[in-house]
Amino acid sequence: MIVGILIQNGDIVTAEKRWRGDIRCRHGQIVELAEALEPATEEEAVDASGQLVFPGGVDPHVHMELPVAGTVSSDDFESGTAAALAGGTTTIVDFVHPQRGESFLEALAARRQEARKAVADYGLHMAVTWWGEETARWMADCVRQEGIPSFKLYMAYKETVGLEDADLIRALETAHKLDARVLVHAEHGDMVEYLRSRLAAEGSLGPEAHPRSRPPELEGEATSRMTILAGLTGTSVYIVHVTCQPAVEAVAKARALNQEVYGETCPQYLLLEESVYEKPEFEAASYVIAPPIRRSEHREALWEALRSGVLQVVSTDHCPFNLERQKELGRNDFRRIPGGAAGVEHRLALLYSYGVGQGRIGLERFVDLVSTRPAQLFGLYPRKGSISVGADADLVIWDPEATGTISASTHHHHCDRSIYEGFAVTGLPSTVIAAGRVQYSDGDLRVERGAGRYLARSLSA
Ligand code: MN
Repeated sequence: MIVGILIQNGDIVTAEKRWRGDIRCRHGQIVELAEALEPATEEEAVDASGQLVFPGGVDPHVHMELPVAGTVSSDDFESGTAAALAGGTTTIVDFVHPQRGESFLEALAARRQEARKAVADYGLHMAVTWWGEETARWMADCVRQEGIPSFKLYMAYKETVGLEDADLIRALETAHKLDARVLVHAEHGDMVEYLRSRLAAEGSLGPEAHPRSRPPELEGEATSRMTILAGLTGTSVYIVHVTCQPAVEAVAKARALNQEVYGETCPQYLLLEESVYEKPEFEAASYVIAPPIRRSEHREALWEALRSGVLQVVSTDHCPFNLERQKELGRNDFRRIPGGAAGVEHRLALLYSYGVGQGRIGLERFVDLVSTRPAQLFGLYPRKGSISVGADADLVIWDPEATGTISASTHHHHCDRSIYEGFAVTGLPSTVIAAGRVQYSDGDLRVERGAGRYLARSLSA
């Protein structure tokens, strides 16, 4: 019987340093780190010579089986976490979206039922989708009893999940009192709705209208407004999916004032260009995500923000919809296209290839962006995001020379399209260990439905 795993001779990389050594894992945890360890009997030895060893990736922004615009995102918790593991992400944080009028705690219980089939560990953020007499108490219950110290606020989508400013302020104040962190979708929702209606009235109904309905200045305005509101309520905020220069500037300005403002971007905003919306035959619909893919000058601002530390995390906002039967709901009106795309499997490979491989960021920074900082910001560290004795044995053995081409025909996402179709990558996981078990090895995925655990989180620990 195998009692544990010994990873030998790897180049171990954390957010702080890099060293050559061995890692012993038992009972799902890292139990010993040294330059050289002798294999014990009945221990599985994994030779990592010539390879890198990272802490497992932590993706703090994904949407499995999320209802959107009359359909449901096409990865469920099982397929989505399996795809994550295949790409080296061993932990995800998804969301609870209560219906208007619904108890947050009942919505949480239902979401936890859906998540039980996950193959990898997961946490949940609570979206504050409506404000009522009991909302502040439910938020307190989330933080104190449910292991949810992070709340999502939407400044757009006011007809479903977004809040008016008066309620944003109530939620910010409540989060501040609870020492919780607030994730914010920052776009000027009312102006987006105006532009969508105007474009449709003018007869612009195809996917190429999508980016025109959500211009960068509306993201910049909302990001700036949120940092001001959060500064005045004293709340720590994390701007999700920063895509453009005006939003980067707003985050940088707040941070220069020593406000507790953080930001993430996603591979699609670092690597794709607005011309994707000109693809023919409705293929452009695959790229309908919000905020939209921007013009190339914004990409350079995002890379610079990752280098300089203005942005701290690279997540995916994984939210796949098939082109057939799902994106096609908006064939005659871009406003009905469910917004979102697949990405959770390829975050590490893309950032490694186009970030580390092209000299834009260093290795330690890469580990910080995809694992350590998200774990720290959302109450998972050092159990997740670190290579240290007592941490969970979630480890990625990374072959820096391995090459591949991303395609919907080979990815593990349940989605008929990839927004990275044909993208070449250099650097891929050869072995992924999660909860102390080899769950992926050289293309072979060995996951177990329901093995993922709910992660109760705390920011004060
Ligand atoms: Mn999202």
